[in-house]
Parts: sequence; C-alpha cells; structure tokens
Amino acid sequence: MDWARNISIKTPAEIAIMREAGRINAEVHATVKALLQPGISTAELNTAAENVLRKYGCTSPFKGYGEPPFPTSITVSINRELVHGIPRDDRKLKAGDIVSIDCGTILDGLVADSAFTAGVGEISPKAQDLLKVTEGALYAGIEKLRAGNRTGDVGAAIQKHVERGGYHVTREYTGHGVGRQMHEGPQVPNYGKPGSGTLLRQGMTIALEPMVLAGTRSTRVLPDRWTVVSADGSLTAHFEHTVAVTSGDPLILTVL
Ligand code: MG
Ligand code: MG
Repeated sequence: MDWARNISIKTPAEIAIMREAGRINAEVHATVKALLQPGISTAELNTAAENVLRKYGCTSPFKGYGEPPFPTSITVSINRELVHGIPRDDRKLKAGDIVSIDCGTILDGLVADSAFTAGVGEISPKAQDLLKVTEGALYAGIEKLRAGNRTGDVGAAIQKHVERGGYHVTREYTGHGVGRQMHEGPQVPNYGKPGSGTLLRQGMTIALEPMVLAGTRSTRVLPDRWTVVSADGSLTAHFEHTVAVTSGDPLILTVL
C-alpha cells in the first residue's frame, strides 16, 4: 500500500462513530479477558467475541482479510506468538501463559482496532514486566499523537520506552491509520527519529500498537501463513488503541 496516499481525515461525526465502534471493541476485550482461564480453547474466545459483535450488528474486519483469508474475528497469540495467531478448538490456554487478543469492530462502515496482552492465572515476574513495559510504551506513544508532531516522534517514544525496559520492538509490523479501512496511512512504526516521518494532523485516526519481543527483534511466520512468532521462541506482548488526533489532547477511542 502507498501509505502516504491512503491518509484520510475524519470529520467529528465520523470520529463519533469510531468512538462507538471503539466502545464495542472494548466490550469485546472485557468479555474475552474475563474468560482467560486454563482449559478454555482459543476458538471459544473467538465465539465469545463474535457474540458481543453480533449483539450490536457489527462484524470484525479481520474475518476474511488477506490471503489466505483470515478465518476468525479475533486473533489470539500465545507466549512466543507476537501477532495474528489463529483461534482453534484444539488450542487450549494453560496457567502461566500470556495471551494477546486483537480485535477490530466495523460500525456503519468505520473501523476501530485494539489489542491487549494478559496472563492466564499466575504469570512469572518476567512476563509481568514485559506486559507492563509494552503497555507503558503504548501510552508513551499516545502522548505524542498530537497535531504538529510527526510519526517519528511517536515511534521514537515507543522505542525508547521499550529499549529502556530491556526489550525490542519489531521492525516488520507497524501501527497504521484506521477508519474507512482497517489499514490506512500513515504508517506508524514503533521506532524512529524525533522530527522525522509524516506530519500528524487533526482528524487523523491512528491504531498505535507496540509489538514487543523479550529476546531479539527477529520474527518468522509459521506455515499457517499468519501466525508471527519470535524467531528465538522468547516471550512477546502487544497492546493497541485506536486514537484520534485532535486540536488538543489525544483522544483514545477504544475504551469503554
Ligand atoms: Mg489490531
Ligand atoms: Mg492494528
């Protein structure tokens, strides 16, 4: 995709719809989070998510996306799986796992996109730290999503937060504009140099999503052609919000 040509500025009315899509997406997350117990299958998590979406007459842009078409409405990525894990009946959660859930919601043709990582039962102090640093990096980036800043300011803030924590950001997958499509411009890498990249303007809506690896920054894709794992098998985490750039503070759209 030509990221620069695919930037769309949203009207206040469109942002209001995206805020409602984001609220529904947050309700999906809350529902799935409450089910993260040992023994539940990742397919059951997808079913629970689809039940919430259906209640509002919404669908997820993930289903049918790409090639091969993604089969489900959420992605569930466990431990070494960074993003795009496919829910399955035979994939059950275990105590001590960390699980990343990503979901999108389409409402009246507009998309909201967000993700979180959480533990199943008791998790190791190392895993807890990885989640804390990754979520902190998301908020460090959101703080920079202001009109007049550039995407490099955002990426640099995320990278600094992650590397100070002793972890790595992926170079292969990035944040992105979102709204009329799931993936729009600008591209927002989780690394960069302050003052570089695309100028942020009021009315842009950005899915910001630090994807963090504990071992090295290298990834590979499994033979299912979707699941992205850390190359060295180390733990990974992923947090994402859809955020509107306003005339003032960043407005997080994907909250209850
Ligand atoms: Mg997402
Ligand atoms: Mg996204």
